[in-house]
Amino acid sequence: MNLKDKIIVITGGASGIGAAMARRFAAEGAKHVICADRDLVGAQSVADDIGGTAIQTDVSLEADITSLIESVEKDIGPIDLFVSNAGIIMEGGAEVADDDWQRIWDINVLAHIRAARTLVPEMLARGGGYILSTASAAGLLAQIGSAPYSVTKHAAVSFAEWLAITHGDDGLKVSVLCPQGVATSMTADIDTSTVAKDGMLSAEAVAQITLDAIEEERFLIMPHPQVADYIKQKGSDPERWITGMQRWQRMLNEQAS
Ligand code: NAD
Repeated sequence: MNLKDKIIVITGGASGIGAAMARRFAAEGAKHVICADRDLVGAQSVADDIGGTAIQTDVSLEADITSLIESVEKDIGPIDLFVSNAGIIMEGGAEVADDDWQRIWDINVLAHIRAARTLVPEMLARGGGYILSTASAAGLLAQIGSAPYSVTKHAAVSFAEWLAITHGDDGLKVSVLCPQGVATSMTADIDTSTVAKDGMLSAEAVAQITLDAIEEERFLIMPHPQVADYIKQKGSDPERWITGMQRWQRMLNEQAS
């Protein structure tokens, strides 16, 4: 998929990875980038820089997600790419209170599902569309010290896989981004003593990796500190950072031929 002339919505577009994607995708010639975030001031500042639109959205509320999608489609046009990127981190384990588990579940998991509930039937009716969600490397391997984050990100990866398996043949494109150690406000606030600082990627690097992956229609995109060098010199061994569905698809193709 080429982003030129596309209408793109990015949740969590006020800062970090979402803001970097908004800037990168706009520079790539997107027709309109909509930054949706509960932080309207931050979203507006990014939107002003790129000639886009900011819409205040709390992704933990289904009504906000529905209204975001409906207002964009009514006032701007059909959404070509929806980036479900807003997320929070929460440290702790089983002792974390149910209310807090529910809060992170609503943002890190239900938001993806609720967006798909509105978007997928509409995208399928017009022949397809692209949904990209930001999960985490913690969605592939549990992260020490953060059960709520790991569990919800696993669920986000699983939902993306389900979407791809269910609707991939109907024209819907799905990708799930699984980064680790990206220098944003999220990692500034947490204890990163277990994360190698020199392995951290910038949000801009992740946005570029995401752009490459969207254009090449990759499913699981995994910028990981251990492969940061590879990612910088893109093109050496994709097996190391593109996993999951793509390998599985390749295996099926090999079996069929
Ligand atoms: P960030 O804190 O800079 O950005 C997160 C954005 O999401 C913020 O603008 C915030 O206002 C918004 N947000 C949070 N809750 C929201 C809600 N309920 N409704 C609307 N907006 C909300 O952090 P980031 O690192 O850019 O995170 C973006 C995504 O990347 C998240 O899903 C995060 O889990 C994921 N991620 C980040 C890292 C990392 O190392 N930074 C690693 C793996 C995955």
